[in-house]
Amino acid sequence: MIASVKGTRDLLPPETRVFSLVESIARETFALYGFDEIRTPHLELTELFVRSVGASSDIVHKEMYSFTTKGGQDVTLRPENTAGVARAYVEHRMAQSGFARKLYYLGAQFRYERPQEGRYREFRQIGAEAIGPADPATDAELLVMLFDFLTRLGFEGLTVALNTVVEKLGEDDRRRLTQNPLRVLDTKDPALAGLIAGAPRMLELLDEESLRHHEELLGPLDAAGIPYRIEPRLVRGLDYYTRTVFEVTASGLGAQDAILGGGRYDRLVSDLGGPKVPGIGFAIGEDRLVAAAPEAFRRAAVEATDAVALIALESADRADALALASELRRAGVAVDLDPSGRGPGPGLKSAEKRGARLAVLLGGRERENGMVVVKELATRSQRTVPRAELLDALKRGQP
Ligand code: AMP
Repeated sequence: MIASVKGTRDLLPPETRVFSLVESIARETFALYGFDEIRTPHLELTELFVRSVGASSDIVHKEMYSFTTKGGQDVTLRPENTAGVARAYVEHRMAQSGFARKLYYLGAQFRYERPQEGRYREFRQIGAEAIGPADPATDAELLVMLFDFLTRLGFEGLTVALNTVVEKLGEDDRRRLTQNPLRVLDTKDPALAGLIAGAPRMLELLDEESLRHHEELLGPLDAAGIPYRIEPRLVRGLDYYTRTVFEVTASGLGAQDAILGGGRYDRLVSDLGGPKVPGIGFAIGEDRLVAAAPEAFRRAAVEATDAVALIALESADRADALALASELRRAGVAVDLDPSGRGPGPGLKSAEKRGARLAVLLGGRERENGMVVVKELATRSQRTVPRAELLDALKRGQP
């Protein structure tokens, strides 16, 4: 047997239904805010991440899947998607269209981390980027969209941890900084806690304009009812952030409790050779989001796509069963057809195994009268209904 690669995993049904529903709600919600989808390659030049995420970051330093191609190019499986989006923005001169670009993405990311629960080497992120506007109202609207999305999934009681990172330093200082005492703030090592307590708080180091940006962000957040708390020690593991940074954590995920992170990156586009255009975005860890999703959402996702098991009782019923299946599907009913004609016993057993809730038995004594049997598998209750009333019965969800 050949097993999957360590740190990667197969997503199987019915779990894939939860992922699909999360993704379609993400698309729906982001579209309501004027965001369009972007898809960038999984493979990028290694230099892209060195220049954006930062050479001293953990990601670039030790977590990238990098290799040299047969043609001699140094490439990397993307560890995150913001750099790729910014690269595409510059490469396709998207700034020249004159519009602020609001883009979202869904897709796999790769980091060579030590696998544990909630931490994978291949994982999925859902993210959005607003490139162009610099004003704090944009930061606020992005957070409003994020909470709209999380609320549609049924999350309650989540809070954004918010901070603003120091920006007044020049490029040399920033390079020195990235070599990087700030990383210490990100440690989970209790031995360093004392040291961190003595470190200066970000907000105390801010220049006037950044402080104003921070304060002007809070008003709209209050107005929109977005729950936040200022977390002066919050820093993020990627170098491109300026000013606003944020994170949302969910309980019940153990040590890996961050479901998403984001922030403003006002220098990223110009650092990648583009115009001086600011931006802000977030990345949700989809695997963790699904793991933390409320039970009611997970159940709804699994049940929403439940197919009715349609069982042809005898081989003589096959053609009729195929026709009935098509008819039901045209009416929007999902049908899992068992055309084998093995009789009710084996047909029902395998329908039960597949988790079907309702079965329709076609053939037997009922054949001559144009009737079918609708059966609820859990309770074994059943009813014989005329074919003409079948659709109604199925839509009611009861025999
Ligand atoms: P980052 O791109 O580091 O800002 O991470 C954003 C989000 O992606 C985190 O909050 C996690 O939910 C998720 N994430 C990051 N790394 C992993 C990983 N190795 N496995 C699963 N999810 C991850």
